[in-house]
Amino acid sequence: MHTGRDMKKTIVKGMNLAELEEWVLQLGEKKFRARQIYEGLYKHRYETWQEFTNLSLALREKLQEYASIPKIEVTRHLKSELDATQKFTFEVAEGKEVEAVWIPSADGERKTICISSQVGCTLACAFCATGKLDFQGNLKAWQILDQVIQVEKLVGESASNIVFMGMGEPMHNYFAVLKTAHLLHDEDTFTFAARKITISTAGDVKGIRRFVENREPFNFAISLNHPDANKRADVMDIDKKYPLQELLAAAKDFTKTLGRKVTFEYVMIPDVNMSQEDAAKLVKLANSLNCKINLIPLNTDFYGWERPTEEQIAAFRQAISKAKVPVMNRRSPGKDINGACGMLSLKGKPNTPRTNYAR
Ligand code: SAH
Repeated sequence: MHTGRDMKKTIVKGMNLAELEEWVLQLGEKKFRARQIYEGLYKHRYETWQEFTNLSLALREKLQEYASIPKIEVTRHLKSELDATQKFTFEVAEGKEVEAVWIPSADGERKTICISSQVGCTLACAFCATGKLDFQGNLKAWQILDQVIQVEKLVGESASNIVFMGMGEPMHNYFAVLKTAHLLHDEDTFTFAARKITISTAGDVKGIRRFVENREPFNFAISLNHPDANKRADVMDIDKKYPLQELLAAAKDFTKTLGRKVTFEYVMIPDVNMSQEDAAKLVKLANSLNCKINLIPLNTDFYGWERPTEEQIAAFRQAISKAKVPVMNRRSPGKDINGACGMLSLKGKPNTPRTNYAR
């Protein structure tokens, strides 16, 4: 990975144009150099200074001395046998790993990359495998961004959508997450429209309020997962800090101030949140604001919980759609490679040895 000398250099990956401009001026170079570096990094995706042939040799040598273009290293690459999902484990720093998932839709129209924002997660949602890992810190913007760069390079295709739904709680790493989203949204480089980028939170009210205040243009999802104010905390610790009523008030404020729908993610867990009474509560809650609901069947089997049956899923969904609440069954592919929602815990396929890749 990086040498000690490299570590002292300025990391330019992850900088936005304004930051690069400031930096090149400090280096004694002309401001317009910043755009050349910016495009080299994010449009051409150069990984070494030698590749920046749009710059003079003398400048490339100077940059080589003062700046580094670090890269996250892929340590495992798994392909699903059930669908077209591929999962990548990346070493982002010595001993720290995160996962990103490439998820093409069945019709091939949408190609989504699901990226991580933290190494592990401090939240311990009862149904989520990431919550069982030790938390090892926030990712820097470049480490989040590089997941997109490296996945596109490894699959040899461009993504159409980005979701911040991998490991970690994006609102706990707010600055780096939003910075990355804005870099991805730049129409000269990554070119993702704001509505092709979705940021998801387990319900961090402070983060939601900040997002609204800054009038961020990106899609926003809240992992609701329980419609009952007295029971949500049983499965989501974060509800103790930000109770459901506060969360809903913030969500309502989002829809009013930004004039947009909020998406509620809802992991369906039999005997926990799938009764007809839960459905009625969910409908009531959904009717109080401009939202849609994405239903996700439980993917793992913590606490002996089991995945809902097709009948249970249909009955729950019907109770919601009958009330004219917009509802979708979210696909959650990549189960055989532990790549589906809530399964990112640095595990491979059952019985797959760890392979060193591209080293
Ligand atoms: N921390 C953020 C970002 C992660 S998104 C958040 O919670 O929104 C991951 C999504 O997968 C969330 O909607 C979460 O509720 C869902 N999820 C977690 N564990 C799951 C599981 N076992 N089965 C299905 N979905 C799960």
